[in-house]
Amino acid sequence: MDIFTVIYFVGIVAEMIIRAPLNQRRKQEKMSEQRVTGQERTLLGLLFVGMFFVPIIYAASNWFDFANYTLPTWAGWLGVLILAGAIFVFWRAHADLGLNWSPSLEIREQHELITRGIYGVIRHPMYASQWLWVIAQPLLLQNWVAGFLNLLVFIPFYFLRVKAEEQMMLEKFGDQYHTYMEKVGAILPKF
Ligand code: SAH
Repeated sequence: MDIFTVIYFVGIVAEMIIRAPLNQRRKQEKMSEQRVTGQERTLLGLLFVGMFFVPIIYAASNWFDFANYTLPTWAGWLGVLILAGAIFVFWRAHADLGLNWSPSLEIREQHELITRGIYGVIRHPMYASQWLWVIAQPLLLQNWVAGFLNLLVFIPFYFLRVKAEEQMMLEKFGDQYHTYMEKVGAILPKF
C-alpha cells in the first residue's frame, strides 16, 4: 500500500473519531420530524460504497488494478492538504452543530438554528467538507474506480439533499432561515 492510500484511511479514522461521540449522544434524542426518502437511503448507501467499501477492496486486493493511474508525487501531497482541510471543516461543523446534527434529514424536538462559528461562514460546512474529500480522493487513491466513484455519487446527492434540507429548514424556521440564506453562502463564503 502506498503512503497516500494509508493517509486516506487515516482520514477515515479521523472522521469516525470526530463523529463517534455525537452518534452516541444522539441516541437519547427525540425527533419531531424525519424526512428520509428511499432515494436518499439509496444515495447514502452508495456514498458508503464509494467512500469506504470500494477503497478497502482497492487497498486489499488487485481487483481494480486494471484501472490504476499514476500522478506526480506533488499531486498526492496536494490531496493530503485538501484532505486535511476537509477534516478540519468536518470537525468544526460537528463542534458547532452539536446535537442538531443528523445523518439524514431530521428535526429534533429541541432543534436550534445554528448560525454561529463555521455556520456563520457557510451554511453547509459538512457538505463543503465532503466536496473537499471527493476532490482529494482521486489524488490519493490513484485509480479510476476507487478515486472517482464517491465523487460521481456525491454530485447528485449534494444537489438533492441541499434542496430538501433547505426546504425543511425554511418550513421550520421561516424568515430566520431566509435571512440566514441571504447573509451566508452555501458552501463558499459570501464577501
Ligand atoms: N447542511 C449542514 C448540516 C448537515 S447535517 C452542513 O452541511 O453542515 C443535516 C441536518 O442538519 C439536517 O437534518 C438539519 O436538521 C440540520 N441543520 C442543517 N443546517 C442547520 C443549521 N444551520 N442549524 C441547525 N441545524 C441545521
